[in-house]
Amino acid sequence: MNGDDDYAHYFQERWRREESFINCEHDTIFHKDSIEQLVYCPEPWCAFAVDGNDVTIGGKDPVLTTLKPFNEGGLAPLCLMKFETPFILRFPNLWDEAWLYDDLPSWHHLDAYLYEYTKERSAVCHQHYPNVINANKMYRQKIQNLREDL
Ligand SMILES: [Zn+2]
Repeated sequence: MNGDDDYAHYFQERWRREESFINCEHDTIFHKDSIEQLVYCPEPWCAFAVDGNDVTIGGKDPVLTTLKPFNEGGLAPLCLMKFETPFILRFPNLWDEAWLYDDLPSWHHLDAYLYEYTKERSAVCHQHYPNVINANKMYRQKIQNLREDL
């Protein structure tokens, strides 16, 4: 990626193809059967939550949405997410509309954008387990632990 909006351009391009795909971010650590779960699941939109992800969103009254299951209002992160053609066709303008918002389509707002967009349209991401891990977060924790040990 070169610019902040390259990630959104990537999703736009994938949407134009109208083909099912699995998005896996470079710093996502997943379990050996995670991809298989997504491939064989009949649901059109699936993802894994990130272990220990405590991102807060929600304007005036923030909530720890990432800590809740997706079907109870939890945010489904893009880290490891499957989009099948029926989902893409259900929301054909999803990524094009990202450019209508002030703070978009910067890559670090796309999870929240997808969350709000699909929530307004009553779509719930199918959740798989166990959660994935963010490599950066694990690295930071490792450094923290080392510092505490010194
Ligand atoms: Zn699924």
